[in-house]
Parts: sequence; C-alpha cells; structure tokens
Amino acid sequence: MEKVDTCDKNIKPPVGSVMADHAVLAHNNTYGPLPMFYVDKLVVCCDCGTEEIWTAEQQKWWYEVAKGNINSKAVKCRACRKKDKKRKAIARKVHLDGIALKEKQKKT
Ligand SMILES: [Zn+2]
Repeated sequence: MEKVDTCDKNIKPPVGSVMADHAVLAHNNTYGPLPMFYVDKLVVCCDCGTEEIWTAEQQKWWYEVAKGNINSKAVKCRACRKKDKKRKAIARKVHLDGIALKEKQKKT
C-alpha cells in the first residue's frame, strides 16, 4: 500500500480516496492540519495487534458522522470492538439489575 500525505493540498487524491469535508471536521479543535481526503489505510489493533484495513469511507464516517477525534490514534479491530460492546452491555445489565434489586429492597 502506498503511503500518501493526506494533508498535502498539492497532492492529487489517489483512486479510491474519499474527499474530506472540512466544514464538518471543524469540531476537531486541532492545531494540526486536517486531511484533504481519506485513503484506505492499514491499522493495527491496540488490543490484539491484528492488522486491518480501515477504508476511506469508514474513516469519513468516523470523523465526520460519528465525530471521532482526528487525533485519536488508538484503533481496535472489528473483533475487539465487538467484544467491547458485549462487555459494556453486560456491565450495563449488572448495573440495572443492581438498581432493580435496591428498589425492591426499599419497598419491603
Ligand atoms: Zn483486536
């Protein structure tokens, strides 16, 4: 995979890249340059080390729709994100069960 500087205004966006919309990227209070476009890139999961392609479209969605921070470097692979979701769901259930139990105890 070719390395391109996505912040370079003078570079012609390569085939398969997606243009960035700076109007929606403004939420990133960054002093660094904003990307001109997104290209598929190889990311390494910070949890398990799996290498995964982060597509240009996914990046655009993450930065511009999900309002992800442009400076965040910690990336997790799909499998680890799924695991995290499950873990959070379980933690939430335990939390809610705890509240329900307390409510029950209050009444009796
Ligand atoms: Zn992972």
